This record gives sequence, structure tokens and C-alpha cells, in this order.
Amino acid sequence: MKVFVTGGAGYIGSVTTELLLDKGHEVVVFDSLERGHREAVDKRARLVIGELRDAAQVQKAMLDARPDAVMHFAAYALVGESMQDPGLYFSNNVTGGVNLVSAMVKSGVPKIVFSSTCATYGYPERIPITEETPQNPVNPYGESKRMYEKILAWYQQIHGIRPVFLRYFNAAGATLRFGEDHEPETHLIPNVLKVALGQAASVKIFGTDYNTPDGTCIRDYIHILDLAGAHIRALSGGHTGPFNLGTGTGFSVREVVDVVRKVTGHTIPETVAARRPGDPDRLVAAAERARTVLGWNPEHSNLESIVESAWAWHQAHPHGYRKTA
Ligand code: UDP
Repeated sequence: MKVFVTGGAGYIGSVTTELLLDKGHEVVVFDSLERGHREAVDKRARLVIGELRDAAQVQKAMLDARPDAVMHFAAYALVGESMQDPGLYFSNNVTGGVNLVSAMVKSGVPKIVFSSTCATYGYPERIPITEETPQNPVNPYGESKRMYEKILAWYQQIHGIRPVFLRYFNAAGATLRFGEDHEPETHLIPNVLKVALGQAASVKIFGTDYNTPDGTCIRDYIHILDLAGAHIRALSGGHTGPFNLGTGTGFSVREVVDVVRKVTGHTIPETVAARRPGDPDRLVAAAERARTVLGWNPEHSNLESIVESAWAWHQAHPHGYRKTA
């Protein structure tokens, strides 16, 4: 298939592009390179540098590419930033998304696989989280993703677009070529690895008084290769609707830091810091729907394998995609 990948220069988009190409698909990456990296775009893909918020640019790129399907990764994804500047999130993640799906309608592209998130659930009442768990986002980032799911559902009803919403839990890990390089970096695993690389003195643990056995937050970490594999399964057939993507097993912040100690052999000093606003105690997926309907089975998401792959990438790219410090 020919796939139009927005955000193919970003963390999850770059790895999904790599996997699509490995499986013989053709890929057009549409990315502004504002937060993504040119070096993260697989050379086998065609890169179109463009801005989602510019409807004419998206329309032209879509008409030129004439893809069979769209995978939509491009979005702002920082919870803290969304609480400071919600407009940024609604204009890029919602308005930009409307431009994208409108361009699909005009070009006759029937299918979109959308990067959604467990942040659409907010503080869930029950764990594990199923797709039927009520969506009550607690920040503009999660709200922008939920809004776009609803917008896509209307495009399905009115225009016959077939949308799949993949609600990721905590994306982590790397392939040999592509890994996680955000500025600023807010995610736990790369921040712990920075300590092992000697780029930070200690890791901050945001809160030790949560309602969990060791007092730190529990999350469900999923390898980006497994996420990429779910996208490819979601492409085919008549699949539509939401799918949670997680392993169903949660690890606390302290357990993650311990695994990093084991993998890197570094002592990793820690400092306890205040809670980060908006962090639920636990987020763990019930991913049976992805298993039964998509036939998806995470193969790379053992926590130690995730950390090993991220450690290998960060050692090879100690300053991310930048060549020099
Ligand atoms: N966290 C932490 N120190 C860090 C980064 C994250 O203690 O330097 C915690 C964070 O508060 C959360 C968990 O690690 O409980 C996972 O955070 P991350 O930002 O990786 O993902 P999120 O769950 O927010 O999507």
C-alpha cells in the first residue's frame, strides 16, 4: 500500500515508517520538522515538508501522493505545555487534523489510523482500562485527542472514512536506527538514561505518595516496534474504532529505575521531587480488543528489552539526532 504518514520525523512515526518500508509498503512522510528530525526520516520514504495547519499545503500533498491510507502521528504531545498554551494544542491537533481528513475526502482516501492516547481517559475509575472506560481528559492535550476521535467518527458517518483510533499507553524503546529525542525531554526512560550517560546527576522521581505499593506512579510501557506493528495490522481490512495498545502489566517509576540500573550497571542516584500535576496513580491497559480483532501480540515489550533497546540507541546517539553536543 501507499501510506501518507504525518509526523514521520517524530518518535513513533519514524519507527512505523521504517517498519512499513521493511514490509514493502510505499511511504510519503508529511512533516513540518518543527519538532521532528530530518535524520529520523527513513531515506526510502519521500519527505514532504509541510504544515498541517495550512489546509492548502495538506490538500496539495495529498493530491500529489494519492495514498491508499493515512497514518496520523503529527501532533503536539506535552501535557504540561498544553496546560500553559491550550490554543497551540487545539489549533495543531484539532484544526490541523480537520485539514488532514478534509484533504482525504477531497482526494478519495478511505482510511486513517490515528495516534490517540490513554490520556483521553483522564483519571480512570477502574484499572485495567478498556475501550469502554469513559473518556474524561484532564488536560488540553488529552482533550484535543478525544475531540479528534469524535471528529473522525463524524467523517465516518458522513463521508464513509474508516478511522482507527490507537490509544497508546507509554511508548518506549528504540530500534537500532530510530529512537526518542524530544526537546525538552519529559519522559521517564530517556531521563533515567541521561543519568547513566553522565548528562544528569540524578533522576527526579515525581511523587512518592501515590496510592501504589511503593508510592510511585504505575504505567504500562509498550515498545514502539509493537506500536508500529499495531498500525500495520490496523491498516488492513475494515477495522475501525478504538484499540488500547499496552501490555496489561504496569511498572512503578521505582521499578523502571531499577531495571535501568540493572541494564546499564549505573547506580542512578534519585531525588524525590513534587508530584507532576495531572499524573494519575495508575494507567494500565486492557488490550484484549487489539489482540482478538487485530491479532496483535506485543513481542518486544518486556520492560528489560525496552530499556536495553533504548540504552543501545542513546549510547549510539548521546545527543540525539544532533551530530555534536
Ligand atoms: N516521571 C518521573 N521522572 C521523570 C519523568 C517522569 O518520575 O523525569 C514519572 C511521571 O511522573 C510518571 C511516569 O514517570 O508518573 C511516566 O511519565 P512519562 O512522562 O514518561 O509518561 P506519561 O505517563 O506522563 O505519559
